[in-house]
Parts: sequence; C-alpha cells; structure tokens
Amino acid sequence: MDARTENHAVLPEVLDRAAAGRLSRADLAFLLSLEDAGDCRRLFAAAYAVKLRHIGKNVSLRGLIEMGNVCAKNCLYCGIRKDNARVERYLLDADAVVRMAEWAWGQRYGSVVIQSGEIESAEHANLICGILRRIADFSGGELGVTLSLGEQDGETFRRWREAGAHRYLLRIETSSPRLYRELHPPDHSFARRLECLRQLRSLGYQVGTGVMCGLPGQTAGDLADDLAFFADLDIDMIGMGPYIPHPDTPLGAGLYVTDSFRARQLRLGLKMIAAARLYLRDVNIAAATALQALADNGREQGLKAGANVIMPNVTDLAFRRNYQLYAGKPCLEENADHCRGCLALRVAGVGENILWGERGDSEHYRRRTFSGRPRSETAKSPIAP
Ligand code: SAM
Ligand code: SF4
Repeated sequence: MDARTENHAVLPEVLDRAAAGRLSRADLAFLLSLEDAGDCRRLFAAAYAVKLRHIGKNVSLRGLIEMGNVCAKNCLYCGIRKDNARVERYLLDADAVVRMAEWAWGQRYGSVVIQSGEIESAEHANLICGILRRIADFSGGELGVTLSLGEQDGETFRRWREAGAHRYLLRIETSSPRLYRELHPPDHSFARRLECLRQLRSLGYQVGTGVMCGLPGQTAGDLADDLAFFADLDIDMIGMGPYIPHPDTPLGAGLYVTDSFRARQLRLGLKMIAAARLYLRDVNIAAATALQALADNGREQGLKAGANVIMPNVTDLAFRRNYQLYAGKPCLEENADHCRGCLALRVAGVGENILWGERGDSEHYRRRTFSGRPRSETAKSPIAP
C-alpha cells in the first residue's frame, strides 16, 4: 500500500479517536502530515463539526490596532525587527489609539487588540496605562481589550491588567527550545517568554499563545508538540499562522516564494487550526491575517477549518504599510470602513454569523473561571505519549 492509500485507510480511525477525545501525539502528527486534498477536507469537516458543537456558527471580531513598529528585538523572521533599516518607524500616540478604539466600538466590534513591537520602558508602560483607562472610560468598561506588546516585567503586566486589559496574546512562536534558538539571536530567551505566559495567567488575564507553522526545520512532530504545549498551559485562545518570508530578514532573504510554497503554507496553517480545534475543543482560535496573505479567502477557509475569531485591521492606512511582518500583507489599500463591509460579506458567504457587540470570551475561559472545577477535570484531552 502506498502512503496515500494507507492514509485514506487510517484517517477514519484517527478521526474516531478525535471524536472520543483520545488523540495521541502520533495522531496529531499524522493529521498535520496529510497532503491529499480529500483527506484534508475530511479533517477540516471534522474540526468544523467540533466548532459547531462548542461555539456554533459564530465569529468574534477583534479590531486590530497596529500601534507601532518600534521594536527592541531582532527575531530573525520578522519584517519589523530592530535591525531592518528599511522600515520607517512609527509609534501612535494615545489620542490616535483611542480614536481607533472608539471607531471599533462604534462599529460594534466588541473587542480590540493593541499590538506593537516590543518596548520595555516606564514611559511606554505609562502610555499604555493611559490608553487602557481612556478605553475603559468611553466604553464603560465594555470594550474588550487584548494586548499583544511582547515580553514585559510582572509589574507592568499587573498595572496593565488593573488599567483594563483583560486578554494578552504572546506567541511562544515554537514550543521547541532548539528551534526557538535557531530563529532568534542568542539574547532572546525562550525561558523568559514562557515565564511571561505563566505570569499573565497568574494575574488573571485570558491568555493566548500560538506558533508560526511551516518554519524552516520544523516537523509535524514539532507542531504536535506545540498543540500539547497549549494544552499543558491550559490556554484560552490561540493566535497562530503560517510563516511567510520577508525579504529584509535573515530568515527570508533570498527566498523566492513560489505558488506551491504558498499553497503548502496555507494548507499547513489550516491543518494546524483543525488539529487544534479537535484537540483543544473549546478555546478561541483566530484565523490569522497571514492566511489571507496566502489566499484571498484564507481567513474564511480558516473559519471552515475550525477557527472562530477574525481580527480586522482598524489601523489608519497611513501606518499600515509600515507594519509589514511578512511579504504580501493584505488590505494595504482598504480603509477600516471598507474592511468592515468586506468582512461582513465574506463571513456571511461561508454561512457564519458575526457576534456584533460581544466581547467573545472563549468557552474554555468561561468554564475554567466559573465552573470552580479543578484543572484536572476541565482539561480536554491530555496527550497520550
Ligand atoms: N512584538 C510582539 C511579539 O512579538 O509578541 C507582538 C507583535 S509581533 C509582530 C506578532 C507576531 O507576528 C509574532 O508573534 C510572530 O509570530 C508574527 N510574525 C512575525 N514575523 C512573521 C512572519 N514572517 N510570518 C508570519 N508571522 C510572523
Ligand atoms: Fe519585535 Fe515581535 Fe517582530 Fe520579534 S516578532 S521582532 S518582538 S515585533
């Protein structure tokens, strides 16, 4: 039997184990290795069925504010890394960020994400505190705020939480310390990133993390380990997406991105969403913008593979082009008004329903917070060796 025929035969058994909440690491790696279009469709359909059970046909929105591209770090894959001299740097002031948040609130987005390069300073911490207080003021504390501002000390995380942030997104990028070392300069610390995730959790944030998939040197086994990592951390939300090379970075320089590479990265991103939905079930999973950079309907495909969150960009066009993490970023010409209309049509087009005006906390977060049950009972499917 060739590998393709063998996969056809094995897939139903693996999907049965997924339905019973008994996926092993080998099962996850198997799902992530599927290449046949029909097999992938069956995987996506199974994940979508789990999404329907836990979340329904519902999509939560987070208006994405790209607050600045000033960054102290030098991640080898990222277009706004400190040493990329070709980037025109900007940092929005409080008025601009609050104005964008007000716009999102007026459009009934329910929630915003404030994201930027990593800046660790007292001045920056104060700036964010001020913005959070103003958002809490104008929305009566109702507009949800996720921060994605990189690693910070515990005191800063605490102050931001007190000022009104309730979610924090910090991708671990890869749960493999070996791969992490290969993707970052020596002074970037995997241990610190992990410690930050733990601190955020202990401060009462809804914690999101994620990885890039399709990185050089990354295997299906590594990605299966990433999913197990998410389960171990008992995370509430996942923001992950395919790696897309940026020509002005050490990792992306000289790489020619072919159509088949894009198709492979998109498929892997979708498989990762589906495997995460089958394995973790009730967490929020974002259909990353990187999916849309690989295919015009990439985010909609993400929804049909099990994702339930979309992050439409609400940043003014003038700044958007300077926040390019990878080549081919979408929506560089469409303003936020246009994005809203386009998004509503796209989501309706795949039979899904936007939860306008709702914060969209994950079922997982609600269960672990309000059920009073200990972690051992609320955890989904502990990975089998
Ligand atoms: N600076 C913060 C941090 O690193 O957590 C937040 C902003 S950072 C730009 C957000 C995410 O962009 C990173 O976590 C990384 O996964 C993603 N990213 C950076 N370069 C990318 C690339 N070339 N392809 C896909 N995603 C990328
Ligand atoms: Fe900076 Fe985040 Fe990009 Fe790393 S991924 S260089 S921390 S913006």
